[in-house]
Amino acid sequence: MAQGNIKRKPLVVGNWKMNTTADEAIELARSITTDIGAIIETDIVICPPFVWLSPIASVITNTSIKLGAQNLHWEDKGAYTGEISARMLKDVGCEYVIIGHSERRQYFGETDQSVNQKLKKAIDAELTPIVCLGESLQDREANRTNALITNQFNNDFEGFTDFEKVIIAYEPIWAIGTGKTATAEQAQEVHGLLRELLRQKTDGYNEVRILYGGSVKPKNAADLIAQPDINGFLVGGASLKAKDFKAIIKAVSGKD
Ligand code: PEP
Repeated sequence: MAQGNIKRKPLVVGNWKMNTTADEAIELARSITTDIGAIIETDIVICPPFVWLSPIASVITNTSIKLGAQNLHWEDKGAYTGEISARMLKDVGCEYVIIGHSERRQYFGETDQSVNQKLKKAIDAELTPIVCLGESLQDREANRTNALITNQFNNDFEGFTDFEKVIIAYEPIWAIGTGKTATAEQAQEVHGLLRELLRQKTDGYNEVRILYGGSVKPKNAADLIAQPDINGFLVGGASLKAKDFKAIIKAVSGKD
């Protein structure tokens, strides 16, 4: 799909998942800030575990790197043991939140309905949601990818109109943490479908950033980012190595 003169600033998000001790988290954040503070062509977000959000917020103060969380609850407060609200995330300095990651869907019973509730709560709280969707290997092999993505998109965004405030991450489940990356063509095909689904919902469809996630590494980042509808990355494993994360950011920087 032609981008014309549309400018979508690329975005690279690091999802640290359930990794790092306090010292390791601070060291990783410090190493990421070194040399990268000067990059302005790309938005950069890191999503540490909840317990390190506060110390990491201090490390990245005065840099261009923003803070994100890996999940939130859809209620404001109450008897939800172990959960974290949008307001808590705002208070600690988060600007972004990942919603509906496949690991949350697979291991913690996250559904399209809970994704939809969390998405709306994030918007109310002025957090930028990064909504994840993607197909399993079984779905891909049965040629159900497009139907499944369409279904997830429609359910996750049911009754939703604030598309200019949202980031979408296409993450084929079979490519997450497996070392198997979707080819640039496979990824673009689904990103193109998502762009079309967005077009059916909003005039601003061309401005929504659609990230790719699934074993993104320095060696495949350039090929993927060259695709017209890939506007950045959600990075898991490689975001835990400052050198690799920075190499991915550098590969992305400069793209329209
Ligand atoms: C992710 O967790 O969102 C992810 C894409 O992980 P990885 O880069 O390790 O595949």
